[in-house]
Amino acid sequence: MALLVQKYGGTSVGSVERIQAVARRIATNRELGNDLVIVVSAMGDTTDELTGLAHAISSNPPQREMDMLLATGEQVSIALLSMALNEIGIPATSMTGAQVGIVTESAHGKARILEIRTDRILGLLNQGQVVVVAGFQGTSLSSGGTAEITTLGRGGSDTSGVALAAALNADICEIYTDVPGVLSTDPRKVPDAQLMKEISCDEMLELASLGAAVLHPRAVEIARNYGVDLVVRSSLTPEEGTKLTSKSSKSLGREGLELGKPVDGLEILENQGVIAISHLPDSPGVAAKLFETLSEKKINVDLIIQSTHEGNSNDITFTVSASEMTRAIEISKNILETIGGQLLAEAGMTKLSISGAGIMGRPGIAANLFDTLSRAGINIRLIATSEVKVSCVINETLGTKALRSVADSFELNEEEIKINPTIINNNEPDVRGVALDQDQAQLSVIKVPDKPGTAAALCSTLAEGGISLDAIVQSERQHKDGSRDISFTLKKEDREKAGFTLAPLLAQWPGAHLKDGPSIARISAVGAGMPSTAGTAARMFRALANKGINIAMIATSEIRISCVVPEKNGIEGLQAVHEEFSLGKRKIN
Ligand code: ADP
Ligand code: ASP
Ligand code: MG
Repeated sequence: MALLVQKYGGTSVGSVERIQAVARRIATNRELGNDLVIVVSAMGDTTDELTGLAHAISSNPPQREMDMLLATGEQVSIALLSMALNEIGIPATSMTGAQVGIVTESAHGKARILEIRTDRILGLLNQGQVVVVAGFQGTSLSSGGTAEITTLGRGGSDTSGVALAAALNADICEIYTDVPGVLSTDPRKVPDAQLMKEISCDEMLELASLGAAVLHPRAVEIARNYGVDLVVRSSLTPEEGTKLTSKSSKSLGREGLELGKPVDGLEILENQGVIAISHLPDSPGVAAKLFETLSEKKINVDLIIQSTHEGNSNDITFTVSASEMTRAIEISKNILETIGGQLLAEAGMTKLSISGAGIMGRPGIAANLFDTLSRAGINIRLIATSEVKVSCVINETLGTKALRSVADSFELNEEEIKINPTIINNNEPDVRGVALDQDQAQLSVIKVPDKPGTAAALCSTLAEGGISLDAIVQSERQHKDGSRDISFTLKKEDREKAGFTLAPLLAQWPGAHLKDGPSIARISAVGAGMPSTAGTAARMFRALANKGINIAMIATSEIRISCVVPEKNGIEGLQAVHEEFSLGKRKIN
């Protein structure tokens, strides 16, 4: 007999008929002798409708009242599903998050789960009941000790499901949704998207945080950290779906279920060189040409960062290993002869990276890394951020000092530290999936001082306001007074808050101000085989260039490449990249 946690999403319980179909599926699983804990979302578009009602009354409703309102959606579906189960002879009891004892932080609207009490659920299972739990909600103890209803954030029922599976030590957690599993991209945007049999938690974390809404990123974090067996499958068809794989499995710690230790790896890669090219023409095909040529000549490029500048020219910076530096410079200079641009190269660099799950989802972590380096007096030459890794390129002479400071700051032990690891060819695809994020905005801070601590100050100020930034790019160019610009992308909904959160800091830097970029879409490619495959970025840039799509920003990390493009080109660009890596179903002539 196994203990199964099954989560059914909004569409899967969107009507009376669907709820009855879910009840029948549960009955079948129960006949096989399994114990079942079921987590459900609100029916269909209920959460959107409730949000609409709130905004019809207030443009800025109190967060506490929003949670009070939104949590009602799930209460409807747990009651109806329990009735449907009882109706077909399956004893079932519904429970709200508070009744179960899903204890969360007090942050309304985005609370993280601290603890799940399992006694009531286990008691009901022992009596032969199916337990139906409301997803997306929990309860916090406010400062006065009064219980308050909290919600976990949109899409958070997945997180409730996986967290329950971890707390109950379930044999499997199945996420039932309206698609056959995790596909190579969103089938609503690219109709020939293909089902994956398996995907690693790290790849899924990247995809989920880059716009693949099929799973809540925090659900994947929990699965990765506690080794929960997780499957995504359709509630409408019988296919087996997609299995998520993870290497690490910690035991539930005392720090709090979703808090844990977010950084569990530190690595340095020595003998790196940085090549910075400025004043490149801002037109489609420039990045494609540069990186295609480098890849044809077998130069292995690691990080790539591009930002756009006033005056319509681009800066592209990339890293290569020191042994390939001379050739990379020569090849780049050749290309610059025809297209224009200035090259600056610096050898003697080291890349330092921290890794874990949900790094960018917790804005304080990148801020802490930058702050640690700045307190050690280390200037950061390049930054690359992602959900599972943040890397900084620094001067080689400071590598050991940086390693020690960062290991201390994140309390990492010897086993978690790697020095110059070799890249192993794991035979994984370089691109497993692609995603489009249409909810990002681009923002630049013009004229920031060029000294250690600037990126740290920006990130920690935003982190204190609960804002995560992504794709942070420090420009190569300096203003006449030596100051530089830093650009980043952030969630559109955080744009306004970023303005007033940063205002006091910017007031300390002479001439510093914010500048909004044009409306953007972000296209990303993710794959575990990327580090061992040369030329992946070049292929992505070429696919976009062939459609005449201009790239405004590029940010890469170990297993992902993201390109910011004009908003209107988002879907076309996504389709082109999907096609380039042959991710679709084979066409039948
Ligand atoms: P649920 O209500 O079941 O939680 P969601 O709407 O939250 O469902 O998530 C499922 C949707 O995610 C799909 O209908 C699909 O449009 C979208 N999606 C985005 N990216 C992907 C992807 N890579 N694979 C599968 N679905 C995706
Ligand atoms: N009902 C919530 C939402 O729509 C939670 C969920 O569906 O996962 O965001
Ligand atoms: Mg969902």
